[in-house]
Amino acid sequence: MRTIAVVGTSLAGFSTAQQLRSQGFDGRLVMVGAEVHPPYDRPPLSKDFLVGDADQHQLALGEQSDYDDLEAEWILGDPVARLRPSDACLELVSGAHVRTDGVVAATGASVRQLPGASDVEGVYALRTLQDAVGLRDELTHGRPRVVVVGAGFIGAEVASSCRKLGLDVALVEAAELPLARALGQEMAAVCAQLHGEHGVDVRFGVGVDRLCTSFGRVVGLDLSTGEHLPADVVVTGIGVEPNTGWLAGSGVGVQDGVLCDAGGVTDLPNVVGVGDVARCHRQDLGRTARIEHWSSAMKQPRVAVGNLLAGSTVERHDDLPYFWSDQYGVRIQFTGFVHPEDDVRILEGAVDDRCFLAQYERDGQPVGLLAFNSPRGFGRARRQLTRPGLVTVAS
Ligand SMILES: Cc1cc2nc3c(=O)[nH]c(=O)nc-3n(C[C@H](O)[C@H](O)[C@H](O)COP(=O)(O)OP(=O)(O)OC[C@H]3O[C@@H](n4cnc5c(N)ncnc54)[C@H](O)[C@@H]3O)c2cc1C
Repeated sequence: MRTIAVVGTSLAGFSTAQQLRSQGFDGRLVMVGAEVHPPYDRPPLSKDFLVGDADQHQLALGEQSDYDDLEAEWILGDPVARLRPSDACLELVSGAHVRTDGVVAATGASVRQLPGASDVEGVYALRTLQDAVGLRDELTHGRPRVVVVGAGFIGAEVASSCRKLGLDVALVEAAELPLARALGQEMAAVCAQLHGEHGVDVRFGVGVDRLCTSFGRVVGLDLSTGEHLPADVVVTGIGVEPNTGWLAGSGVGVQDGVLCDAGGVTDLPNVVGVGDVARCHRQDLGRTARIEHWSSAMKQPRVAVGNLLAGSTVERHDDLPYFWSDQYGVRIQFTGFVHPEDDVRILEGAVDDRCFLAQYERDGQPVGLLAFNSPRGFGRARRQLTRPGLVTVAS
């Protein structure tokens, strides 16, 4: 391959570029990104950056020397509109073209919006640096009443950051128990309790009927209970949609993500998918999965790049998903593929102290871990975790 184009210049795209060079690709490398900013890290956007403990420079992924080492051409602020495999060409929104032999899909995901929220002032969804700059500006001027809609990890972190700023926050969530599918009832309940313990006005099992506005600015929400909740700022964390529109008609299969085999290779052997946009087959699950965690976006490129350069799938992803979240001074860490009905056993610490290590077990076998403020125990147990679906054969 003489040219490889990486579409998407965030964590997965940047990590792919580094892997391409470290795995010996010495051809032309073109990085095409929709955002104008050089690659930056998203996790601080809902944490340190939002409360003013980190500035924009601290979000940068990589030093100048890392960029120099890549010897890449950067096209920023000009999204890819279409992949045309017939003549190996990427069409950009500006009308420019990039001819390429290989393509890496690293286009991540975009946030879902509440109906009627577009163009309403004071309503934010948090995905990009631009979102975070606007939201931080609102949160740090005066004492706005904040309503967070959606108590997934991003919504939970925003609520926590607002409390750190001393703001009044309500958290509205349609599910009776947020994160129950991801963590199981017992541990999801522990996460949910954190909000009330830190002064958040919690409304679970409650939907949003209507966004109320005055002169184009949000003033509150009508809830499914009939209640009106006043708000100066509304932050939504109601999920994401993978950015796959540019692949329509390209021959690359798309279904809630870019469909990839177990090594990140798509229907076209010279196109691979990495990060939040990639829906890869998982041998340990017996199905595909799209994993929206920082560590997957960081690690998947090693395998995908190896397969792209080899021209076929010679290695598969087998890392278990891992994520962390910081809420109300608690570092939450999780790894594994768990089912809601898995048993949970506390290995260390005490749940009531909000400092513990819990192990998920299925048929007596460990399949996942959750830790609150126990990074060392988590790290140790993680190394020993048996992967679900893999049978250990005694010799
Ligand atoms: C606020 C926030 C906090 C988070 N906190 C945590 C955390 O604590 N722990 C954790 O494990 N994970 C966390 N995550 C998740 C983690 O940041 C993501 O998993 C990671 O950013 C995924 O990287 P990516 O490169 O695959 O996708 P993205 O970061 O979404 O980047 C995709 C890039 O592709 C660009 N793009 C899209 N379409 C096109 C196109 N057609 N042409 C060119 N470019 C395009 C986008 O503009 C974007 O720049 C957080 C995410 C957010 C938003």
